[in-house]
This record gives sequence, C-alpha cells and structure tokens, in this order.
Amino acid sequence: MKKIGMNTPLVEMDGDEMTRVIWAMIKDILLKPYVDLKTEYYDLGLPSREASGDKVTHEAAAAVKRLGVGVKCATITPNAQRVTEYNLTQMWKSPNGTIRAVLDGTVFRTPIMVKGIVPYIPTWEKPITIARHAYGDIYKDVEAYVSKGEKASLVVSGKTSERVLEIFDFSKTGGVVMGMHNTDASVRSFARSCFNYALDRRQDLWFAAKDTISKTYDHRFKDIFADIFTKEYEDKFKEAGVEYFYTLIDDAVARVIRSKGGMIWACKNYDGDVMSDMVATAFGSLAMMTSVLVSPDGNYEYEAAHGTVTRHYYKYKAGQTTSTNPVATIFAWSGALRKRGQLDGNDALAAFGDKLERATIDTIEAGEMTGDLAVIWKGEAQAKTLSTEEFLKAVAKRLD
Ligand code: NAP
Ligand code: MG
Repeated sequence: MKKIGMNTPLVEMDGDEMTRVIWAMIKDILLKPYVDLKTEYYDLGLPSREASGDKVTHEAAAAVKRLGVGVKCATITPNAQRVTEYNLTQMWKSPNGTIRAVLDGTVFRTPIMVKGIVPYIPTWEKPITIARHAYGDIYKDVEAYVSKGEKASLVVSGKTSERVLEIFDFSKTGGVVMGMHNTDASVRSFARSCFNYALDRRQDLWFAAKDTISKTYDHRFKDIFADIFTKEYEDKFKEAGVEYFYTLIDDAVARVIRSKGGMIWACKNYDGDVMSDMVATAFGSLAMMTSVLVSPDGNYEYEAAHGTVTRHYYKYKAGQTTSTNPVATIFAWSGALRKRGQLDGNDALAAFGDKLERATIDTIEAGEMTGDLAVIWKGEAQAKTLSTEEFLKAVAKRLD
C-alpha cells in the first residue's frame, strides 16, 4: 500500500509516563503503516525538560507558532513529590501553561461521543464544547488575610494619578481579600478565537458571565465580545447559518442541561475549569475528552484532556499489561493530521484523520474497548475488555 505523504511537518511533543508509552504505540500501530509521518520532534518528558533547563518547552511552543500545527502528549506538572522522584533542580512550570502563554490561545474541550456510552443527561445528543479563556482572573490573583481593625482598598496608580477604592473596612472582624485582573488584549484574543472556532466548526457560540453582579469586570468581557462580533463576525455568522449570543452564567447552566448539545460554550477562566470537568464527566469519561489550543493568529495545538495516568504507569513498570484508554490521544493525532492536511490542501491526509476517528469509534461500538469504558458500557454488543495494545490493533484492523 502506498503511504499518504505530508507536505509540512507537525510539531510533535512527546510526554511522560503511561501516555508516553501509548504515544509510541499509536505511532507504530496506527500512523506509520499508513502515513509517511513528518514531524519536528520535541521531547517534553520531564527528564528532557530538566536536562535542557526547560528550554525544550519554549522551543516547542515557538515551533507551533512557526509551523502552525502541533500535537502534544500529556506531561507531568511537577510538584514537591515529583522534584524528589525525578531529582529535579527546579519545580519546572506546567508545559501547558508555557505553551498557552506563548500562543496566547483559548482551550477548546470536546467529548468524543460513542453509541453505548450514554451521557448522564438524556437529552444530550451532540457534544458540547467548552471554550476556556486561559489567562488571568483568580489564576493570577493576589490574596491576603486581613486582621480585625485593618481596612482594605484597591489602589490604581498611574504616572500622575492615583485612585483609591475602598473594598471593606474590617473594623469589627478579620477576613480575606483578593485582587485580580484581566487585560483587554487577552479578552479580545479569547473572543476572536471563539468566533473563529465557531465558524470553523459551524456551531452556535454561547458566552456567559455574571455582568449583573460584576458590572465593570464581567461587563467588560461582554462588551468586548459584542463589539468584535458586530464589527467583524456578524455577517460571517449569518452566512454560515450559526448564532452568537451572550447570557448570564446561571441561565447558561440551566439552558445547557435542557439542550440537545452541539454548541460551543465560551467560559471565563474559572468557569471553564469547572464546567469542562462537569461536561466531561456527564458525557461519560475524562479519557474521552479532546483538547485543542487555538491561537488568535490561527495556530493549533492538539492533546488529550487527561494526564499521564500515573497509577497505570506504575503497573506497567512492574511488568503488568494495562488497559489504559488511548482514544483521546488518538484523536489528538487525528485532529492534528486533519488540520495539517486542510492547511496544506492535502485531502488524503485530512481524510486519513477522519478515517482514523471513524475506525476508533466503530471499534468501540462493536464492543471492543478498554476497561474504563467497559464498566460504563450500555451498548448492544457484548463488551470485551482489551489491553491498550490489543485495542490499538483492533482499530488498525478496521483501518485496513
Ligand atoms: P490523570 O492522569 O488524568 O488520571 C487520573 C485518573 O483518571 C487515572 O488514575 C485513571 O483512573 C483515570 N484516567 C485518566 N485518563 C485515563 C485513560 N486514558 N484511561 C484510563 N483511565 C484514565 O490525572 P492525575 O492522576 O491527576 O495526574 C497524573 C499526572 O498527569 C500529574 O503529574 C499531572 O501533572 C499530569 N497532568 C497532565 C496534564 C496535561 O499534560 N495536559 C493534564 C492533567 C494532569 P484509575 O486510576 O481509577 O484507572
Ligand atoms: Mg480542573
């Protein structure tokens, strides 16, 4: 069989633990037999980040900016325990955080739906995508305990001016105080990434915040979205037959639960963190959630939403066979190959992305799956629990 060619390389970012093992298996079993794979390889595994003083992460992010499309394996974000385990000189920052900062992107998370894995909300027929703003708010806040008798104020100072806004007078009791920020530039990027993604996917876009209570902060987000939409996107949305609207976050929650799904729900940073876990769980499994980081200038980075599945890795290292679910990592590759194909006008490569996804879903729907899915399976076929490698080979059989 003639292999599918590639014009431009993908940025390939390898990772850690169980997902690193799965990464190599996917390439050997599902990609290399069909595609003449061209990648620019960066090893973001923790030992390589340590050896390069984390330079490799910055180089990988720059490569995504240069080449336009990347695919990333899950990586360890070190904590104190990992510093000891890997003998690190520093508690290196989250690679995802570094890449997000370089690409200034928005993270879109979408569940992979399969007949037989039934969402907890019976009306959900189509996947719900969460678009999470990935900068600022409480993730970059300043917090303090306040003692009884102290007073907290917000001070905004310029070169010649100073504004002092009283937050609270703690004369009767102590408490806590917090300061946070966002920037117009970041919110504009967020808005454009969401509008572009909605057009790309031909899906409605909802944006929700709490502007009735946060009359300046959240209202700013609402106004920036509205301004960019009317000036740059309204006509394109009409043409594509899709809709944009803003609503209050509590109203959005109620509407999402009653909906059939199929929309993109743009959330502020914290809301997106919480809602993406809720949506992933309600659709069945975190192991079935894909994630793509889209920058406002059109760069794409694909990955699985889950982590390095440490518990399975220790079993693997002890010589046991594991049944770790590779589906979200397969979809990271298929998404990246399809996007590369689309950008390069390489129809065969884009079609391969579709075929790989179809083969993966068909395999599960025929009853062949990993253990995490077998325990929640409600399909017609008898569920057969396979190891990761057996599952990948079953998908390859369908691809053939
Ligand atoms: P995790 O790796 O997502 O795993 C949590 C648990 O969820 C697993 O122990 C497993 O449950 C289940 N699970 C997740 N993915 C699965 C899959 N593909 N197949 C089967 N079961 C799956 O999260 P974590 O244990 O909190 O984090 C582990 C490491 O990953 C940490 O070092 C963290 O820093 C890193 N992390 C990286 C990313 C990223 O790179 N994007 C994201 C999150 C976490 P059972 O053990 O019950 O089978
Ligand atoms: Mg979270």
